[in-house]
Amino acid sequence: MELTNLSVIRSLCEKYGFGFSKTLGQNFLVNAAIPPKIAKEAEIDGKFVVEIGPGFGCLTKELCKRAKKVVAVEIDSSLLPVLKETLAEFDNLEIINDDILNVDLSALCEKYGEKSVYICANLPYYITTPIVMHLLESEAPVKSVTVMVQKELARRFVSSPGSPDYGAVTASVAYYTNPKLLFGVSAGSFYPAPKVDSAVIRLDVIPENERIPVKDRETFFKVIRAAFAMRRKTLVNNLSSGFAIKKSEAAEILSSLSIPVSARGETLGIEDFARISEKIEENYTTAF
Ligand code: SAM
Repeated sequence: MELTNLSVIRSLCEKYGFGFSKTLGQNFLVNAAIPPKIAKEAEIDGKFVVEIGPGFGCLTKELCKRAKKVVAVEIDSSLLPVLKETLAEFDNLEIINDDILNVDLSALCEKYGEKSVYICANLPYYITTPIVMHLLESEAPVKSVTVMVQKELARRFVSSPGSPDYGAVTASVAYYTNPKLLFGVSAGSFYPAPKVDSAVIRLDVIPENERIPVKDRETFFKVIRAAFAMRRKTLVNNLSSGFAIKKSEAAEILSSLSIPVSARGETLGIEDFARISEKIEENYTTAF
């Protein structure tokens, strides 16, 4: 069954009384070239894979052909009977009816005796960043995250300091992973077609002992959030409001690190945010 074929999709909708939910970000792939391409680029042959949002199963199918085991997490229970039919041929697949944000990936790895997990998905757009951050912040042994996201967001995930796309999300993702833009996908490759184009990115997770050293992760991420809280303001102003310190104190912190006091958050790399957070920790440990 060609699951990206529009007439197959329409007849499955009719057979199971399925209607697309905008709220759940249900834009299914109708371009047959894309699911095998995502599965190939994810480099998951023989691996343990978790897919988020299988929909009718067009990507799941390609993942099952390559992976050792696939666990597909789908929030919409009305898709379960469809998936039972469309993916009946695979015995290396488990479908879980849940919100991915409630799934304990470490427990899943333990259940299958796996030491690492690869994530792959055509993500629902309404919740892309929370899902990606949930995966990266979990203590689970996630090796890589290969996902389709909206094009603008893809640019934000992979941008560098100084770029207008660089923001708090970029810096947070850069702490955990080496991000790579793989390829673009036009809006017409989906049904229903969204308003914007998409792109597939791969985030290769950096092992904990190879990440830039950060003494206190909470302060580090607080610095990043503060730095981008008001884009038009300087870092001094943003740090001053984010940490409730005087502007002169914020300026002193930057000067002591040879960072210009006129700098804005978008010009700094994660190493700079780590140095700032360490300085704040040193000077104000009791205050935070
Ligand atoms: N994989 C299919 C494809 O490529 O055609 C469908 C992708 S569609 C963009 C997103 C899918 O994620 C939908 O099936 C939707 O029901 C599901 N979904 C939405 N929110 C979810 C969540 N929080 N947890 C798990 N699945 C979710």
